Amino acid sequence: MKTTLKTDITVADICNGFVYNQLEGKGLFGLGGKLIIQPEYQRNYLYADGGGNKEQAVIHSLLKEYPLGLIYFNKVGADSFEVLDGQQRITSIGRFVTNKFAIMDGGNPKNFDSLPADQQDRIRNSKLLIYECEGTETEIKQWFETINIAGVPLNEQELLNAIYSGPFVTKAKEAFSNSQNANIQKWSAYVKGSANRQDFLERALDWVSKGDIGAYMSAHRNDTNINELKNYFNSVIDWVSTVFTDVLVEMKGLEWGRLYEHHHGKSYDPKKMSDAVKKLAADDEVTNHKGIFEYLLGGSTETKLLAVRVFDEKVKKAAYAKQTQAAEAKGESNCPLCSIGHDANKSRIYKLSEMDADHVSAWSKGGDSTAKNCQMLCTTHNRAKGNR
Ligand SMILES: [Zn+2]
Repeated sequence: MKTTLKTDITVADICNGFVYNQLEGKGLFGLGGKLIIQPEYQRNYLYADGGGNKEQAVIHSLLKEYPLGLIYFNKVGADSFEVLDGQQRITSIGRFVTNKFAIMDGGNPKNFDSLPADQQDRIRNSKLLIYECEGTETEIKQWFETINIAGVPLNEQELLNAIYSGPFVTKAKEAFSNSQNANIQKWSAYVKGSANRQDFLERALDWVSKGDIGAYMSAHRNDTNINELKNYFNSVIDWVSTVFTDVLVEMKGLEWGRLYEHHHGKSYDPKKMSDAVKKLAADDEVTNHKGIFEYLLGGSTETKLLAVRVFDEKVKKAAYAKQTQAAEAKGESNCPLCSIGHDANKSRIYKLSEMDADHVSAWSKGGDSTAKNCQMLCTTHNRAKGNR
């Protein structure tokens, strides 16, 4: 791979013909049309997020003549380039110069046009440090993986989008990475994250590929449609929203793809599911609300998914003392199940460490985790009784 360091390209050069696409959230062109700022594999513009502190910082750096760091271009034709790294910085500059946002100056917002002429000139004449690279697609992409350095680091999915860029990724991003997509709000009930950072795309790929995103993207890289990806994702979302008609915050980010695979062949009564969800969500003994959905889908048997409340140490000690005192008075075992048995343990007094707390009335039958529902059993009997 060939690289050339350019030190004479100015902000004015870069911003010549700058186009920003508001809808896609992307800086598109610059350098008089010779530069593609936002190639397919680049992520959306993020510096305007979080109140725009980052894009403001870029402009303040130019005004103070601080270095902005290295910018990398990929030479794609005799006189045409793509931005490999530096897209966020370039888009910030282009947006500012075209009055898309204002910087704060002594408490007053100032856009480019309202800056004094000398400051405008300082920005326009700022020179950027640019590496022009020329190489094969493979070289460039391998290298792009390693330059993942400055600014907002690429996350895993952004990196995969870069590595497997092509018609499939382009289509997939149109569907899943566009924050203007009206479906995003519906999807947000079940999927965590933001469209901009590729979280929806990542989840869709994760579900359809059963967790092997890289292999799936590699196999489908040159596909010209994303029907399978889209249909599978919609099937999962439609299924969840049909089985569980109420939307609870705890549903966000669950492994819906896996749950769909395991349970979508069964039939559920949405009304009964809704009642059961509400009952469990209102149950103080259920400490893991995220487990409610899988618990119900699996037929209400795996209580460990709910992390039902356990007795605290104070309650256990009190129950132990009370049981042991009564047992000693009667000359029988302090484990109530041993005491009615016929072996040598019939009169055995266990130490606290040899016993476990048990719900007299099981949680599933309405028992709670208060002192009056607590009994200590020897570990053998407690295990035999199981975690009901
Ligand atoms: Zn026992």
